[in-house]
Amino acid sequence: MIQKIFSNPDIYQIDIPLPDNPLKNLNCYVIQDKEETLIIDTGFNRPECMEAMKNGLAELGVQWEKTSFFLSHLHSDHVGLVYALTKDKPCPIYMSRVDYHYLGDSLKGDSWLQLEEHYEKQGMPAQYTQVLRTTNPARSFAPSGYFDATTLEDGDTITVGRHTFTCILVEGHTPGQMCLYYAPEQILFTADHILFDITPNITSWMEMEDALGDYLKSLKKIRQYPIKLALPSHRKNDMDVYQRIDEIVHHHNIRLKEVLQALAQKPNSNAYETAAMLRWSMRGKSWEEFPLPQRWFALGETMSHLDYLIKRGFVKQHKGDIYQYQLSHPLEEAFVILDKIWEQEQQ
Ligand SMILES: [Zn+2]
Repeated sequence: MIQKIFSNPDIYQIDIPLPDNPLKNLNCYVIQDKEETLIIDTGFNRPECMEAMKNGLAELGVQWEKTSFFLSHLHSDHVGLVYALTKDKPCPIYMSRVDYHYLGDSLKGDSWLQLEEHYEKQGMPAQYTQVLRTTNPARSFAPSGYFDATTLEDGDTITVGRHTFTCILVEGHTPGQMCLYYAPEQILFTADHILFDITPNITSWMEMEDALGDYLKSLKKIRQYPIKLALPSHRKNDMDVYQRIDEIVHHHNIRLKEVLQALAQKPNSNAYETAAMLRWSMRGKSWEEFPLPQRWFALGETMSHLDYLIKRGFVKQHKGDIYQYQLSHPLEEAFVILDKIWEQEQQ
């Protein structure tokens, strides 16, 4: 199913379904001008996504020899199909340098094993990380092979026909995610940096000390741009982008306070136990009924909030076989200091 979003440059949206996934769909944007085509993101490496993608591209009459891909970040729902789509018919693929290298490590190396160990140190039972080897969509629907890409830095540009788009590095959701900005019409492809009816997942990354802090900085960065049309990678956008940024910032402030509260209630909890005490929108299900992939994401999000609190002196980490966490200040005092820091950082 395709939908025209904008004229001159022509922007279309192919609706790629993500079956059995809470994200529901991926918005694959296709920009066309002067017979040139740029495809933004692909969907998972699974047949349902491939079918929707192929139908959409056929409907648009895309000429492969004048087509390129822009991959906004390393997640499988964005890059999953790129190998299958290009292995027999190569075309230029653009991706941020940082995320391309991370993705390469996970496709070729043992970074998943390291991540499993890391999650077990944070309290996730080993029998769960074993099950997740085959049930985590991030792993099972990743590209089936390694692919070459032209790597991008912050501020680099990509042209489609007569139109030039600027890549904006927005680290946080992943180490090197990029938004694409079209200045003449103030259009921003937000990728997963800003989503509108779900909150982007912010997790902890092995080589990022403070992913949440970086994410909040990247929200501030986007605030500086004039934006008339914000096009997210999932679901729809029916609200003002700046208002949505305020809401997301507020969400993380509340989440940080929940983490502090949980540790005040049960000092020396590990991250997995802390995650179980937080509020998640899981349709009335208890933590134990929460599907394992969702628990994996919830633990990651809890870890990123703990990292933020550790870096700013709110929480102490005790490194044993399993890491435990403890507040550095009484709860009420911690809230007051957090509000002060928050105000400074958000200015
Ligand atoms: Zn993502």
